[in-house]
Amino acid sequence: MLRALLTLWLLAACATLTRAETVVFTDVNVVPMDRERVIPRTTVIVTDGVISSIGIKAKLPPGTPVIDGKGAWLAPGLADMHNHVTTREDLSLLLANGVTTMLNMGEATNGFAGRTRIAVNAGKVPGPQIFTALAVDGSPLYGHLVIATPEDARAIVGIAKANGYSFVKVYTNLSAEVFAALAEEAKAQGIGVVGHNAKAVGLAKQLAAGQSMVAHVEEFFYGFFPEPPADDQQAPPEDARIADAIALVKAHGAFVTSDLFNYQTIAAQFGKPEVVKAYLAVPEARYLSPGDRIGWAHSGYQKKAVDLSRRVAFEARFVKAMADAGVPLITGGDAPTIPGQIPGFALHEEIDAMLAAGLTPWQALSAATRTPGEFIARTVPRAAKFGVVAPGYRADLLLVAENPLAKPAALRAPIGVMAGGRWHDAAALKAMLADLEARRVVP
Ligand SMILES: [Zn+2]
Repeated sequence: MLRALLTLWLLAACATLTRAETVVFTDVNVVPMDRERVIPRTTVIVTDGVISSIGIKAKLPPGTPVIDGKGAWLAPGLADMHNHVTTREDLSLLLANGVTTMLNMGEATNGFAGRTRIAVNAGKVPGPQIFTALAVDGSPLYGHLVIATPEDARAIVGIAKANGYSFVKVYTNLSAEVFAALAEEAKAQGIGVVGHNAKAVGLAKQLAAGQSMVAHVEEFFYGFFPEPPADDQQAPPEDARIADAIALVKAHGAFVTSDLFNYQTIAAQFGKPEVVKAYLAVPEARYLSPGDRIGWAHSGYQKKAVDLSRRVAFEARFVKAMADAGVPLITGGDAPTIPGQIPGFALHEEIDAMLAAGLTPWQALSAATRTPGEFIARTVPRAAKFGVVAPGYRADLLLVAENPLAKPAALRAPIGVMAGGRWHDAAALKAMLADLEARRVVP
């Protein structure tokens, strides 16, 4: 029954999207995220998936859909800028959690990077706006596509572009000459380079060559801070070195993905199968695919004990220092690949981890909205503007019961989510989750 209803609703939603469509939000407190402020109890008009005005009470044709905000808060939709989501089911999980933009950071199937991305971005399938990165490495050790020569590097940029990838994601074992060729060709062809530290190059040279984003905070352990002493491999860097890292990132205008929750979940499960069992037992785990459940249950982290606690604590201080210094942070993790990371829910955990690290709600919410929008505006030519509630921006909106700048937890329970102008109210989101849960049951 639910599925039938959902199908009907989807058909209706598709039908409305094909013609020029205006939707009006009335009586909403807008949290625009352009700066720290609230525009109280106003009207927001969305036309053809784009915010067309704020604060203007236009005379609209009879029958124009009106969403009565009843004094609730309207914020930009959230952005998950590092995940490994590759299914339509996980897209609905993101959407139900208020995520309206996602960046797949590698291992997307061809079908997802092509067909699904195109269908979702065209509004034919519900989901967040999708960006994808093609992961490349110098060896097959981590399962990525191998590029072994500068010729390979130049060719892969064209292949990535032709397949709709917005970025090439670099990985640990790329050689210096391959990285150099890749960075040069990517610049020439207007595609972004993002990713990990490449051991043979190092973050300082990578950012200087134009890499625009560091995919995990941990990469600074491996590719920038001095190596730990041989007899204490998990020693954290000295706090005095944080300023150098901040100076480097700022000098190159690079973005850093805050993945505190990701690193915390990894640290928590090292050598502890009982922790992974607990991750699989939380209520939200019912939305995981059977394949992910199996992957989590057999993941390698639980098999060896490593104590990362001092590095976890360092990372929190490092992210807070970056936020205070104005380093552009963007939120992400490794859902659903790393046990403990459930798509959508993991992003709220990241926001909470940032708050626990001492970031203000404004800082944390910026990393989940405005700054990802700035990152895409800087790196993806002709991409729609998003991440701020302002005229001309994609209508990616989250309606919540309380001011998220005062109570960020309100973001976890949206009254409704608009993605690219398509409105999903709380009942529709609930139906989406119920449908997903039913589909996750193994027959
Ligand atoms: Zn990843």
